[in-house]
Amino acid sequence: MKKSIPQKYQSMADQFRADGADEKTIRKWIQEEMQGDEFARKEGSSDIEAYKIWMSWPQERRSLYLGNAFCSKCSVTSFAPGYNIRKDRFGLIVEGNCATCGAKICRCCD
Ligand SMILES: [Zn+2]
Repeated sequence: MKKSIPQKYQSMADQFRADGADEKTIRKWIQEEMQGDEFARKEGSSDIEAYKIWMSWPQERRSLYLGNAFCSKCSVTSFAPGYNIRKDRFGLIVEGNCATCGAKICRCCD
C-alpha cells in the first residue's frame, strides 16, 4: 500500500476545507490530531481518561489552550509538540514545553 495520509485525516481535511479553513490551518490541525492519536496509543504515561475528555472538545477550543500558555521567560507562548494531558480536580492540565524556549510549562483548562 502506498504511504499516504490515512483516510481519517483526509476526511477531516475535507471537512475543514468545506468549513472554509485555510490550508495552513488545516495542516496544523491534522498534524495535531495525528500527534494526539500517537499519544493515545502510548501506555503508562498517559492519562487516557483526561485524553478522552480533551479529544471530545472542539478542535478550536484545544487550539486555543495550546496556543495560549504562559512561560516564565517568554510570557504568552504555545506548547511545543509532544504535550501531555492529565486530569485533576480543577479540570484538565496540559503539560509540555514552551514552543519558543523549551522550558516546562503547563496550563489549566477549565
Ligand atoms: Zn519560553
